[in-house]
Amino acid sequence: MKKTRKTLIVGNWKMNLNVSQASLLVSRLHKHIEGHRDIEVVLAPSMLDLQPVSLQIDRRRFRLAAQNAYHKDEGAYTGEVSFNMLRDLVHYVIIGHSERRIYFHEDLGEIRDKVSAAVRNDITPILCIGETQVERRAGETKQVLHDQLTTAISNLTTEEVSQMVIAYEPVWAISTFGGEIAKPVDIQREIDFIRSQIEGLHGKQTSKEVRVIYGGSVDDHSARAYLEIDGCDGVLPGSASLNYHKFALIVKAAHRINEEEDGKKEK
Ligand code: PEP
Repeated sequence: MKKTRKTLIVGNWKMNLNVSQASLLVSRLHKHIEGHRDIEVVLAPSMLDLQPVSLQIDRRRFRLAAQNAYHKDEGAYTGEVSFNMLRDLVHYVIIGHSERRIYFHEDLGEIRDKVSAAVRNDITPILCIGETQVERRAGETKQVLHDQLTTAISNLTTEEVSQMVIAYEPVWAISTFGGEIAKPVDIQREIDFIRSQIEGLHGKQTSKEVRVIYGGSVDDHSARAYLEIDGCDGVLPGSASLNYHKFALIVKAAHRINEEEDGKKEK
């Protein structure tokens, strides 16, 4: 599949960095990451850091994602922040991250409601799906991906599905849960499966248009191999996104791959 759109690089800062630490990281990212027309760089700071980071970033080079939000638009839900409150602040929201599924017991229905709330509020969902090590060893990967994917998008139209982002994040490959390095060939197979599920539900065109990215201990050494996977539109590094040097190298690697592909096309 030819790359006809921007490569998406999403840095998930998780629950790290207070406001001044976040500001320092952003100024370093400005120094080390050039704007590239072929790359979309998205930063996902904590909820607290979103507002100050939004005032600091060069919006031509960086976009923002929230790491979570509550599915109701407003009301008596003490301690929560709604998608509605985030709509002018962020382009994206990460939904269904394995840390939220596992530590905060978010179930399939709750994740479906969050995906609907994001779309309702004009925020693009980055839906994370992936199997645990136990599920993988039991041969249940495809069933898990099927269930997580089909439930999450069950309220969306074809048009809405085509505009979302799906992040394949096998739980066993995420640094938090062991960080086993996934083989690109295995990731290729599951990305193909995800697109085939979308094709079955929403047709071939949508399965080509939907962006599918990979996350799981991606760093400056491994990024290239994942970015070269056919049909992989980007990567979602967690730990490596807290290191400006590594994160900048990931962006560079993505840009270089695109330049090489353009060079091949011209010949
Ligand atoms: C993540 O935060 O989704 C992630 C994949 O983290 P890490 O890169 O640290 O494994």
